[in-house]
Amino acid sequence: MKRRRFLQWAGGLTIAASSPLRAIAPSDDDPEDIFNRLKQSTELRFAVAGGNISVAIAGNASPLDKLRIEAWVRRGASAISAYFGRFSVENWGLLVTLNDGDHIGPATTWGHPSSITHINLGRNVSDSALRDDWVMVHEMTHLALPRVPQRSAWFMEGNATYVEPIARAQRGQLTPQEVWRWAVDDMPKGQPRDGDEGLDHTHTWGRTYWGGAMYWLLAEIAIYKSSGGRYRLQDALRAINRKSGGNTSFWSVEQTTFVGDAAVHGNALESLYRAQKDRPVTVDLTDVLQQLGISEVDGAIRFDDRAPLAGLRRSVTTLRAPT
Ligand SMILES: [Zn+2]
Repeated sequence: MKRRRFLQWAGGLTIAASSPLRAIAPSDDDPEDIFNRLKQSTELRFAVAGGNISVAIAGNASPLDKLRIEAWVRRGASAISAYFGRFSVENWGLLVTLNDGDHIGPATTWGHPSSITHINLGRNVSDSALRDDWVMVHEMTHLALPRVPQRSAWFMEGNATYVEPIARAQRGQLTPQEVWRWAVDDMPKGQPRDGDEGLDHTHTWGRTYWGGAMYWLLAEIAIYKSSGGRYRLQDALRAINRKSGGNTSFWSVEQTTFVGDAAVHGNALESLYRAQKDRPVTVDLTDVLQQLGISEVDGAIRFDDRAPLAGLRRSVTTLRAPT
């Protein structure tokens, strides 16, 4: 399945990648309205790995619809709690709007007045599409970190883009080959083009999602190297999640990188941010992939365990003990 069909922007406007601007129905576009709706009526309520989840469903859900939605949410929560060591936030409200199609998304997540997500779901969606879905885990990743100023939307979108397939792989929902294919096929879309003024000033789709994801991949490598293999980016992100409590907090990027760096006794997050925020930085992706031991041969992703960072590559998709 081709991933990243829809893009979610923090402002609440949602854009389909290859079609004209498309706004969500007004009543589903306001987190205050969704918050109040969830207080009045909730179709599903359950706890997962330290998080309380409330789900409202718009569009006449049948008992089967409810069962399928709960299984879908639980599968996503299982992946995200593998990565963060617990569910992203203590309390999460989800509004699912059922429609007549078979698609998942678009979706939008807010952190005010509480952690809230709205997601569209076609009631004819197949079980395999729900099982293979990335949208739910992408939104759950947004819940886990504090919100940051809009100019740095790439910081959060890149994080969700980077973490989502890794979280699913750590729970065995994706193979390592599927995870790293995204680096081979999609990450080049994040390289700066002519006229780029750095990640904080160049708000294109490629730079926001894949330029952001490259930032986090470089941070992963830098943290691993500077700690002699002791720490991973995951340790920094878990610390940011615990200290902030998730996306109900609003932090500066500097505060976020400071907390993450402190947890892994380094300065990778801050120094990469400084280097990339105001300047175009082209990443030598060929070299990065070679160091990780990742290549594509005859259309298949191949791994080389003799590569200098093969140990990091293997550990990234391996379940890490809660810290
Ligand atoms: Zn997003």
